[in-house]
Amino acid sequence: MNFENLGGNENLKSELLSLEQSNRFPHAIILNGGDEASRDALTLLLSKWAVCRGEQKPCSECIPCQKAQKGVHPDIYFAKGSGKTDVIAVAEIREITRACSIIANEADTKVFVIKNADKRMGVEALNAFLKTLEEPPQAILFILTTEDAGTLPETVLSRCTVLNLEQSTTFSNETLELAQKILLSITETSELNLLKNTNVLADKTTALEVLPAMRAILSDALSLTVSDEVLLSKDLSEILSRKLTKKKIIGLIETVNHAIYTISRNVNLSLMSTWICGEFRRISWQK
Ligand SMILES: [Zn+2]
Repeated sequence: MNFENLGGNENLKSELLSLEQSNRFPHAIILNGGDEASRDALTLLLSKWAVCRGEQKPCSECIPCQKAQKGVHPDIYFAKGSGKTDVIAVAEIREITRACSIIANEADTKVFVIKNADKRMGVEALNAFLKTLEEPPQAILFILTTEDAGTLPETVLSRCTVLNLEQSTTFSNETLELAQKILLSITETSELNLLKNTNVLADKTTALEVLPAMRAILSDALSLTVSDEVLLSKDLSEILSRKLTKKKIIGLIETVNHAIYTISRNVNLSLMSTWICGEFRRISWQK
């Protein structure tokens, strides 16, 4: 993926690169947080990438790229919405679903963009959209942008890949230490330390500090596969990137993301920490 002049978040870029290279590019992406201009810039870049005919996608030079840039590509759709607040009605979602089943006009992939989905989609529209997500048509890329993806239903979140635009924040030493302990125990052969260390996640306040730190370290480990840039915990990131494949690191990041978004709901946190432990175990052990 060619990021051109796209500024900012290196972790996010390496996450996207890894998804592209591992042929696991999702059919639904949520671009979350950051400012609207950054979300728009990344939406445009991903739309161009999906329709580009050039070598280094997006090349910005081929005709599909230029059409996308001008907003006139026939396979890139933006949900229009209606009324003063641009609310997206169920009828529009149904129309999108119908359009999904029709083959793309010029590109290999159709792109559907729903900007500010957290503000513009009501319960009914989200439910209708969920049906499409559950049985995703071939060669579709949904791009949703949100200010706070945490307000979307869990059922929708779990079927999308959430990419966070916010730069990683600073963490206290105590938080970092707990995050490091958990991540290091993933690489150990015995399950005991992992079980013991993930216990701290049963406390909501601790979990909401430690999980983002874990995500930042994992993103660093992922960055190491494409550059030398490491922000937080160099030694640990090196160990992780040596012991785990890119695919596994992405899986771990997805697990952490999932945990962060479900924690804001009233989930049972000890069940959650057990779930995380099990997922970490499954991902690190899979072939
Ligand atoms: Zn192009």
